[in-house]
Amino acid sequence: MNFSSRAHYFIIPLLIAAAFMIAGGVYHFTAQHRLLQLEKELQFYSLQFHLGLQKQVSNSEAFATLVAARSFTRSADQEELLKTFQSLNLNPSIKGIALVTGNQIQIRTGEVNQQAVLAFYRAIEQGKTSLVSFEYNANSEPFITRAYRLNDNLEQPQWLFVKLPFNAYRELQQHLNQYFAQDATTEVSFTSDAVVQIRPDFKGKSTLIELEDGAYQFDYQQANYQLLIKVPKSLMDNLMPLSYIQMSAILLLMFLFAAFIVTALLHLRYLQPVRSLLSVIQNTQFGEAVKLKKRRSKHVVDQLVNTYIDMLRKLNRLAAYDHLTGLSNRTHFQYLLQRQLRNSARHGRKMALLYIDLDNFKKVNDHYGHSVGDQLLKAFSERLLKSTRPSDLVANLTKGELARLAGDEFALLLTNVESTMVAEKVGERILSLFEGGFLLDGINHNVQASIGIVVTPDDGNDVATLLQNADAAMYQAKLKGKNRLQFYNKEIAGGIQRKQFIERVLSKAIEHAHFHLVYMPIYEAKEKTIVGVEVLIRAPTLTAKGIGPEEFIPVAESTGLIKAIDTWVLNESMSRLNYVSDRYGFDGFFAINISAVELHNKEFPGMVRSMLMKHQVQPERIELEITETSFVDNIEGSIRQLNHLKSLGVSLSLDDFGTGYTAFTQLIEFPVDKVKIDRSFIKDLDATATDKRRMVDIVLALADLYQLEVIAEGVENDYQIDYLRDRGCEMLQGFYLSKPLSWDDFQALVERNLAAS
Ligand code: C2E
Ligand code: MG
Ligand code: MG
Repeated sequence: MNFSSRAHYFIIPLLIAAAFMIAGGVYHFTAQHRLLQLEKELQFYSLQFHLGLQKQVSNSEAFATLVAARSFTRSADQEELLKTFQSLNLNPSIKGIALVTGNQIQIRTGEVNQQAVLAFYRAIEQGKTSLVSFEYNANSEPFITRAYRLNDNLEQPQWLFVKLPFNAYRELQQHLNQYFAQDATTEVSFTSDAVVQIRPDFKGKSTLIELEDGAYQFDYQQANYQLLIKVPKSLMDNLMPLSYIQMSAILLLMFLFAAFIVTALLHLRYLQPVRSLLSVIQNTQFGEAVKLKKRRSKHVVDQLVNTYIDMLRKLNRLAAYDHLTGLSNRTHFQYLLQRQLRNSARHGRKMALLYIDLDNFKKVNDHYGHSVGDQLLKAFSERLLKSTRPSDLVANLTKGELARLAGDEFALLLTNVESTMVAEKVGERILSLFEGGFLLDGINHNVQASIGIVVTPDDGNDVATLLQNADAAMYQAKLKGKNRLQFYNKEIAGGIQRKQFIERVLSKAIEHAHFHLVYMPIYEAKEKTIVGVEVLIRAPTLTAKGIGPEEFIPVAESTGLIKAIDTWVLNESMSRLNYVSDRYGFDGFFAINISAVELHNKEFPGMVRSMLMKHQVQPERIELEITETSFVDNIEGSIRQLNHLKSLGVSLSLDDFGTGYTAFTQLIEFPVDKVKIDRSFIKDLDATATDKRRMVDIVLALADLYQLEVIAEGVENDYQIDYLRDRGCEMLQGFYLSKPLSWDDFQALVERNLAAS
C-alpha cells in the first residue's frame, strides 16, 4: 500500500473507529433482527405444538368414539373389551387405556393411574367434557392423557382414558434443539392445571421478554394452558453469528482490504503512469528519443502523460537541433559523437569527422544582411543533406550525422570508413556543392568552404580532441587559400602544441608580470624629430623561442588572456610616459596597441579612464592603435566603442590600414585621428613599383580628404622616406629610422634628442 507517511496517522485510526462504529450498528441491528426471528420461530413452534396437541386429542377422540360405538356396557362384554384394550395396547402410539365409571377404574391396561382419574373426575364434575392432561418430567417420556365421556345416560358417567405419548411436546423439543443447535437445552414448562380443556377456536398469544440475566422467556398463552420457553443467555449468544469484537475485526479487515484495493487501483491508474513519466523525464539523456509510449485513452492522467511526452519531445528537439537548418546543434552533435566513439571502439571501426567552414561568409552577412546570410546557410544545409544521404554516398557509409556547430560552421560524422579515401570523396562532394554559387533573391552568392578532416582513432579518441583537431585542420585549409580539404597531420598537431605552449607561458607571464615593453620611435617626416613612440610588448620566454607578439597576441585573444595583457601594457606605458616626461621633458605621444577584442569589451573604456586618472596622464598624449581588420565583425558596435574611447580625450589610430576590408567611404564613419599605412605597402616601395606607389598615393589623398594624419610603418630606406614625405605623409616609423628600443636605449635616445634641440 502506498499511503504517504502522514496519511497513516489519520487513515488507520479513522478506519478502526469506523469499523467499530459500523460493527456496533450492524451488531445491534443483527441482534434485533435475530430476536424478531426468534420470536417468530417460537410462535411458529408454539402454534405447531398447539396444532399437534389438538391433533392428538382429536385422534384419541376418534378412538374413544370407536370404543363408545361398541358400547361395552354389559358385563358380558367385559372380556372382549379387555381383549380389545390389550390389542390396542400393542399400538405404540397408545401407552395406556382405562375405562372408568364414576371415579372407579374398571378396566385398565398400561399406565393410567388413579391420581389422574381423580383429577379428571373433579373436572368432569365441574361439567367439562373434553379433557386432556399433560405429564412431563425430566426423567421420563412426556405423555398426555385424554379423557372422553362415553355415556351420559348412566347414573354414573363412564369415561374412557387414553394415555398417549406427548408427540407435540417432543416435536417442540426437537424444533427447539434444531433451532438452537443440537443438544441445546431450553427450558419448556406448562403453567396450567393438570387437566385442561382444549379449545380449538382460541388463538394463542405470545410475548418474548428479556430476563435480568440476559436470558429470554417466551410466553405462549392458550385459553387454558400456558407454554413457557426459557432460552438461556448462552443459547441467545449462539443465535448471533459473530461477537461484537469479531464483527469489528472482520469489518476492519474488510476496510483495509478495500483500502488496499482502492490504493492499488489508484496506483495503477494514476501513480504508475505518472511514475514512469517521472522516471523518463529524469533519465532521458540529452538527444535521446523519449522512450515512453503515448497512451490511447482520454483519461485525464493519460492526457497529462501524453502532453508531457509531447513537451519532452519538443524540448528535446529544441535542445538538440538547430532551428534554422534543422540539423543537430553542437551539443547534440557532441553527444552523438561520444556515443559513436564508444560504438566504433567496440566494433573496431574507423570514423571520420569533417569540419566544414564557409569561406567569406562574413562578407555576405555584412553586405547583404543577416537574413540573406541565414538563407544561404539554409540553402547550403539543404544541399548538404541531399548530398550526404546514405544511399547517395560512396561505399561503406552506414550513417552520417550532420550538424551546424555554430554560425557558418558545419560538421559531418562518417561512422564507418574503411579508408581515408571515403572521407576524401565525401569532402570533395561537399566542395562541389558550392559550384555555381547560391542564387538568393536574384543575386548569385559565390561562397566556398574549407574542410578539415580527422579520422579516429589516429587523430584523436575523444570528442574535444577530435573537434579541436578538425577545427585546426580546417583552419589550415583556410591558410592554404580556402576552398579545399585538409586532413589533420603532424604539422597541424605541432601547431596546436605550439599554441598550447604559448598559452601556458602567457598565463604564467601574466601571473608574474613577466613582460616588458620595447619602444619604437615615431618621427616627424620633414624634420625627423621624435614626435611619439609606439610601445610593443615582449614576453622574454617566448622571445627566446622566436615567438613575437604577432604570434602570441592572437593566442592571447583566442584564450581570453588578452584583457589582462592590454591592462598591463596600458598601466606600464603610462607609468613610463610619466617617467620620460618628468625626467627628460619628453612631450611626444605614446602609441599603445589594443586588441580587437577590446572593441567588444564594455569594461574597456572604464579601464582606460581609471588608468588615466591613476597616472594623471593627459589623454591627448595617449594614442590607441586599433587594427583595421578588427572592425569586420561588428562595424556599428566598433564605432560606438571608438566614440566612447574618443570621449575620454585619447586619440585613435587605424593600424595596419589597407589590410582590412574597409571601404574607403567607410573611413569617414570611424572616429579616428590617424591611419597607419601597413608595412606591406611600404615594403619594396621603390622607383619601379608603380602599383605600390599608386596605392600609397591613394591612401595619402584619402587621408587628406578626410583630414586624417598618416603614419607610414616599416620605412626601410631613404627613397621611401623622401617619397612619403613629398606626398604629404606626416609621420614615419621603421627599422631604418629606429628599431624597437629597450627602455634604457629609448631613454638615451630621448636624452640625446633633448640635448640636440
Ligand atoms: P603593429 O602594431 O603593426 O606593430 C608594428 C610591428 O611592425 C612591430 O612588430 C614592429 O617591430 C614591426 N616593424 C616596424 N617597422 C618595421 C620595419 O621597418 N621592418 C620590419 N621588418 N618590421 C617593422 P611587433 O613588435 O612584432 O608587433 C607585431 C604586432 O603585434 C603589432 O603590429 C601589434 O599588432 C601587435 N602588438 C605588439 N605589441 C602589442 C601590445 O602591447 N598589445 C597588443 N594588443 N598588440 C601588440
Ligand atoms: Mg601598432
Ligand atoms: Mg601596424
